[in-house]
Amino acid sequence: MAGPALATGDRVVLEREDFPDLLAVLRGRGFRVVGPTLRQGDLVLDELASAADLPAGWTDVKEAGSYRLQPRADEARFGYGVGQHSWKPFLFPPRYLLWQGRREKGRLQTIPGADDSPPQAFLGVRPCDLHAIEVQDRVFLKGGFVDPVYRQRRERAFIVAINCGQPCATGFCASMGTGPRAASGFDLALTEIISPSRHDFLVEVGTAKGAKVLQDLPHRGAEPQEVEQGEALICRTAAQMGRKLDTVGIKELLYGNYEHPRWDDVAARCLSCGNCAWVCPTCFCHTLEDLTDLTGSQAERWRRMDVCFTVDFSYLHGGSIRPSPRSRYRQWLTHKLATWIDQFGCSGCVGCGRCITWCPVGIDITEEVRAIRESQAS
Ligand code: SF4
Ligand code: SF4
Repeated sequence: MAGPALATGDRVVLEREDFPDLLAVLRGRGFRVVGPTLRQGDLVLDELASAADLPAGWTDVKEAGSYRLQPRADEARFGYGVGQHSWKPFLFPPRYLLWQGRREKGRLQTIPGADDSPPQAFLGVRPCDLHAIEVQDRVFLKGGFVDPVYRQRRERAFIVAINCGQPCATGFCASMGTGPRAASGFDLALTEIISPSRHDFLVEVGTAKGAKVLQDLPHRGAEPQEVEQGEALICRTAAQMGRKLDTVGIKELLYGNYEHPRWDDVAARCLSCGNCAWVCPTCFCHTLEDLTDLTGSQAERWRRMDVCFTVDFSYLHGGSIRPSPRSRYRQWLTHKLATWIDQFGCSGCVGCGRCITWCPVGIDITEEVRAIRESQAS
């Protein structure tokens, strides 16, 4: 669609009727488009065939240990927050065949694994999840070892972010500086604006790649008052955020409290199920599995996602070094909020709130830190 050339930082308006073209253009460019959709009454991330697969007209109600979808009064396409799925499995597959070994005529042949995933376009990435992808970039691309599967998927990914227009009861991105506005890390960022007089999308161009996609779509320049309306919506969301976490001196606070009685208190409630780590968009634990067939002529090595809440995860020559729920929860929280900073130069938590919503007993990471902090003040 010809029009004046677009540049990074430009804002345009995409009318509601033209929004489905965005998916068509991305699919036409060879992307597998992944985004939020409903499956068996749950909000998940999966491949979208068209814009009709988005959960238009639905919203979510969250609290610690509880999640419910319910209809909205309007047809908002992004009128809900993060679901239990993050983008992590689309960049770092939860199960991956690293290599196979075959013995033929007495000779051993090794065949490395190959990732045949097509380029992916992620539609509807929340600002906290953009930050989670940045955190995973540090883990998989910027450390001593570069993960080739992650790198290939990451380099080919196209990211369409969505700024948050409704507050999340369990999220605390505003206090982590990770939302509710997308600041970087996207090709295009949308703000869905619904008022009695409008329902359209304000679109910010994040990269040259994003500008090229937008150039193929019908759009018009955004008026200053339309940009202001979008900013006001995001500010309102930030002001109504359900939770907050005081991060001042958090590393020192946790390093100084390894033996705090609060760890016993939380251990009495924690089921050690690992849900908090499974849903976390930054957790990257994985393990290796070796399989051989009964003839001994074929072997496979798989990489599989794992969580630090299993006893086996910290098994070292004869025993687990974290045998109790207390030690496992303490290490998980302390890693997220303190040792991660020393390891990767940033927090391991982006404030998405998933670990609070999907903890079956409603354990709240912000509440646990607050309890320890307040005990120091008294
Ligand atoms: S620790 Fe909890 S709130 Fe923080 S990023 Fe992980 S799931 Fe989200
Ligand atoms: S804190 Fe909650 S989600 Fe995490 S392991 Fe314990 S019970 Fe499971």
